Amino acid sequence: MDFKLDNRELHEECGVVALYGVEDAARKAYVALRSLQHRGQQGCGIATLGPSGAIRLHRGPGLVRQVFSDADLERLPGSSCIGHVRYPTTEVGGPENIQPFQMTDSQGCFALAHNGNIINAGILHQRLESEGRLFLSTSDSELTGHLIGEAQARLGLAEGILSAIRVLDGAFALVILTPDAIYACRDRYGFRPLSIGTLGDGYLIASETCAFRELGARFLRDIEPGETVVVDRGGLHSLYRTESARRGLCAMEYIYFARPDSILEGLSAYSFRKAAGRLLWEEHPVEADLVTGVPESGLAAALGFAQAGRIPFETGLIKNFYVARTFIQPAQHMRDLAVRMKFSPLPETLRGQRIAVIDDSIVRGTTLRQLVRMFRDAGAKEVHVRIASPRYAYPCYYGIDTGSRAQLIGADHDEAWICRFLGADSLGYLSEEAVRTAAGGLPLCTACFNGRYPTDLYGHDPFTE
Ligand code: AMP
Ligand code: SF4
Repeated sequence: MDFKLDNRELHEECGVVALYGVEDAARKAYVALRSLQHRGQQGCGIATLGPSGAIRLHRGPGLVRQVFSDADLERLPGSSCIGHVRYPTTEVGGPENIQPFQMTDSQGCFALAHNGNIINAGILHQRLESEGRLFLSTSDSELTGHLIGEAQARLGLAEGILSAIRVLDGAFALVILTPDAIYACRDRYGFRPLSIGTLGDGYLIASETCAFRELGARFLRDIEPGETVVVDRGGLHSLYRTESARRGLCAMEYIYFARPDSILEGLSAYSFRKAAGRLLWEEHPVEADLVTGVPESGLAAALGFAQAGRIPFETGLIKNFYVARTFIQPAQHMRDLAVRMKFSPLPETLRGQRIAVIDDSIVRGTTLRQLVRMFRDAGAKEVHVRIASPRYAYPCYYGIDTGSRAQLIGADHDEAWICRFLGADSLGYLSEEAVRTAAGGLPLCTACFNGRYPTDLYGHDPFTE
């Protein structure tokens, strides 16, 4: 398999959790995974360390509540565990890619799960295969497991983990369950979020802090970019820290991916989105009778835009939350249909009005093209589209599935063309500078807007992939 060309199969937009020293850890992981469900709906799993010291794993395709029955959780005893939710991408791979992964060899066993995308996976994979390692999946977690397995034979488990992490390049938030401890690592750029909290006398680690609130955990701190922490009998320690000059949390976490109530690097996704909406008004004001947002991730920006422009904020669309995500439908006509099934316009708010519609981003343009038509059919007099992020023009290699450059409407078309394609009266995108301002100056990855990738691309070509 050519891993460079098939890289999109390896995309993992996911959520991870880990618990240590917590009674009934699997049940708590279940609750935490449900609050991270927005990060992945294709499959999920939990691995626990049972009282006998053996690792037990349950995983499967579907939502957390579908995969785990009460009896399944009963079969996962123990006070430490890791868990994972996996996102459906266009090329999902099979159920063998559902995490966590359990690795067993002569040195012992451990389980691991990650969120992100290892960009040098192809090279590492080829090396391990040439050394005789067998792979059962295309997941970066299995690859990492093999790297750890290889290094632990020489160095022991803790050093083996650190040694494996040093050779990984790209985006990862990784949790590892061993017979004695939980390890959690974040890549040196800090693309994906990962936070630690305390829960009773134990610890909870999760991709987003929204998982803490529901369990009553107390936020302690974010794991730093490049940091590996270990939680064991002695408590929490930072094991390793590497610096990178090109540090940057994924801007799309704030713009679209994270739950609004999650706090990433000290700033909630909601505050970011509202500030982005205010700045969007400053950059692209419009004469409109009302402002409406595309639920869910466009709503906070729409509120910020409306408040800054002193224009009434109205509900213009009702979202059916039980419809599959439009983005992942393989055929365009199915994506169009899915948008119609997902959103219903409210004619009583829209009739005869000049409306400003705010969404968080445009990828292919499917959603907004349909919505503009639906707003007009519902009687809107003018439809002005405002986007609370810059023009999306380059593919992501760090675990957010946006499709190839050919699929991105912003790659080869300017705003005037996109505006005509959408059928809108006007269109405005937020500038990159405003995204940085909304994030309070935090370092961010914005490669999908400007093509400046913070890592080596290991032969990938954003212009042809
Ligand atoms: P599109 O209809 O292809 O233009 O997609 C735009 C919609 O997809 C927006 O409403 C976003 O909220 C959402 N979106 C943005 N990025 C992603 C992503 N990586 N995965 C799934 N949906 C996304
Ligand atoms: Fe996030 Fe875009 Fe960077 Fe990918 S390229 S990590 S989507 S900001």
